[in-house]
Amino acid sequence: MTNNLRFDGRVVIVTGAGGGLGRSHALAFGSRGASVVVNDLGGSHTGEGASKRAADMVVDEIQAAGGKAVANYDSVLDGEKIVETAMKAFGRVDIVVNNAGILKDVSFARMTDQQWDLIFQVHVDGAYKVLKAAWPIFRKQKYGRVINTTSAAGIYGNFGQANYSAAKLALVGLTSTLALEGKKENIHSNVIAPMAASRMTETIMPPDMLKSLKPEMVTPLVLYLCHEDTKENGSLFEVGAGFVGKLRWERTGGYGFPNNKALLPEHIQERWAQITNFEDGRVTHPGSTQESMESIIANFENLAGDS
Ligand code: NAD
Repeated sequence: MTNNLRFDGRVVIVTGAGGGLGRSHALAFGSRGASVVVNDLGGSHTGEGASKRAADMVVDEIQAAGGKAVANYDSVLDGEKIVETAMKAFGRVDIVVNNAGILKDVSFARMTDQQWDLIFQVHVDGAYKVLKAAWPIFRKQKYGRVINTTSAAGIYGNFGQANYSAAKLALVGLTSTLALEGKKENIHSNVIAPMAASRMTETIMPPDMLKSLKPEMVTPLVLYLCHEDTKENGSLFEVGAGFVGKLRWERTGGYGFPNNKALLPEHIQERWAQITNFEDGRVTHPGSTQESMESIIANFENLAGDS
């Protein structure tokens, strides 16, 4: 297969690109002609410390392979500085891959406010800050591609990750709305839930499993979604070990109670089997708030007779 999905002339910011998935994304963009801002604070996987080394090493790797790259060592919380690095070095920004992340795993019962706040800051505020600085540039040039990074833990929940789960699902909501707001100006936003071996997963997954989870098996989806010819917008994907799949919401056919009669908990109890039935051939897949409202609006006129 020819490598014809190129990024020549495009400038990409990859946050948290000093290791793991971000490094893999940055190297791949660099190898296909993009100018890459390799952002990494260089701290530990739980957010302590800072170092220039991680970002510098990836910049060296990209340059050694003949690519263009510049390092940025700011926290994603200083997103405007990361965008400034791109503008100073390359004069534009076309793609933002929000990938930086840390963990503060602890059961909800023992979680401190600080552990909650820190996770939200890095994942949610960090993505917001970078995008907020890049957005006016995207709008002006009528072009932009955004990848946010969520997690299966956000979609399904995971023991000991209440802070991380909540923050990661926030990125799905952010992506959905940015997809709507950016569409007219050719700004496409998508979100991935990856699975890959990295220092983040090496303590929680067995070595055998880690061997089969190469970051390089996640990156091609990121590149495909960020290409100028790709129309996909507002979608969520699970990706890892060569598997790539798209997710959507599914809602049961439900039950419409008369809208002009008192609705009691006992009515809900009586119809619970229908309300929760995904197997009766009546499921729908709402893809927007409008579609979601259709069933509710359709029930406006569900009025009981006078009897
Ligand atoms: P990683 O620890 O190797 O990479 C994260 C990088 O982000 C690190 O290099 C770190 O220095 C950097 N970083 C952390 N805080 C930062 C900050 N404030 N500013 C700038 N950089 C910062 O882990 P990874 O597994 O490659 O994770 C990448 C992303 O993928 C994360 O958002 C993570 O939550 C998500 N994710 C990973 C997996 C997986 O299986 N590896 C699963 C689900 C989601």
